[in-house]
Amino acid sequence: MNRAERPVNEAGHAGHATGEAAPLLEATGITKRYGRYTALDAVDLRIEAGRTVSIVGESGSGKSTLARVLVGLERADSGTVRFRGETVRGRRARRAFHRSVGMVFQDPYESIDPRLTIGEAVAEPLRAHRLHRHDEPGRVRELLDAVGMEGVEPDAYPHRFSGGQRQRVCIARALATDPDLVICDEPTSALDVSVQAQILNLLLDLQRRRGLAYLFITHDLDVVRRISDEVDVLLRGTVVERGGADQVTHRPRHEYTRRLLGAVPAVSPRERRIGAPLAPGSPTAPKSAEQTPA
Ligand code: ADP
Ligand code: MG
Repeated sequence: MNRAERPVNEAGHAGHATGEAAPLLEATGITKRYGRYTALDAVDLRIEAGRTVSIVGESGSGKSTLARVLVGLERADSGTVRFRGETVRGRRARRAFHRSVGMVFQDPYESIDPRLTIGEAVAEPLRAHRLHRHDEPGRVRELLDAVGMEGVEPDAYPHRFSGGQRQRVCIARALATDPDLVICDEPTSALDVSVQAQILNLLLDLQRRRGLAYLFITHDLDVVRRISDEVDVLLRGTVVERGGADQVTHRPRHEYTRRLLGAVPAVSPRERRIGAPLAPGSPTAPKSAEQTPA
């Protein structure tokens, strides 16, 4: 089914029977500078509960910076984040927000501490938020099962596992605190092509089961079409186009989006970045060139 036609997830509107509900997350005027370089320039973002917003843009456009700022790994120079209508400000509010937002990074080799067992990695957020203290092993088992790691021992070390399995562990960890929103920063782009579809299917399945909202950063336009309700196009730290996934991917309004759509992907998954081959005036690749067997 086309994402645009998909019914709004019931979880998205739980407790808001009438009237305009506040969006799950609303970021306004997010600005982040590195020295004199402005990586994010007054970015606005809105995510409804249970929905998927994708961020696309060439390499260096500020996608990961936005993810890191939203999840609190870096501090914005200015801007406001509201979650369920409440401004995220102050220690308590930040802590509650962190519990409600999970994050999955691009490289599952870098994002798991090799000295921890996979069970310890998954338990980390539980300990940080003092959750499931009386049944941590049970909760870890449940989370590993939920990501297709049934039968895998929690006391195994990550070096035994493939990239796809490690990413499953990272997803389990992101789900540990039972978040409402998961920020995924190119979660499949470091994986073998054959594994990418499995991880994407897992994320979609988890969304359906748990009513998750996703902020999904990707350079893969097939993925964008498949998973997104809305798309924000980022160019040098500014959102230049925003709209429904169908509109943005099929009838882009901005010249930059049209160039992104025409970008020729390289063969290697690691090189399949929208940004890399974006020479001005580069020829538009036929759609079939982007297709890869699952
Ligand atoms: P994307 O994820 O879209 O590829 P990033 O958010 O990683 O882009 O980076 C956006 C810009 O900010 C880039 O020009 C990058 O070099 C710069 N940048 C990112 N992180 C830092 C940092 N810690 N220090 C200085 N510059 C940074
Ligand atoms: Mg990035």
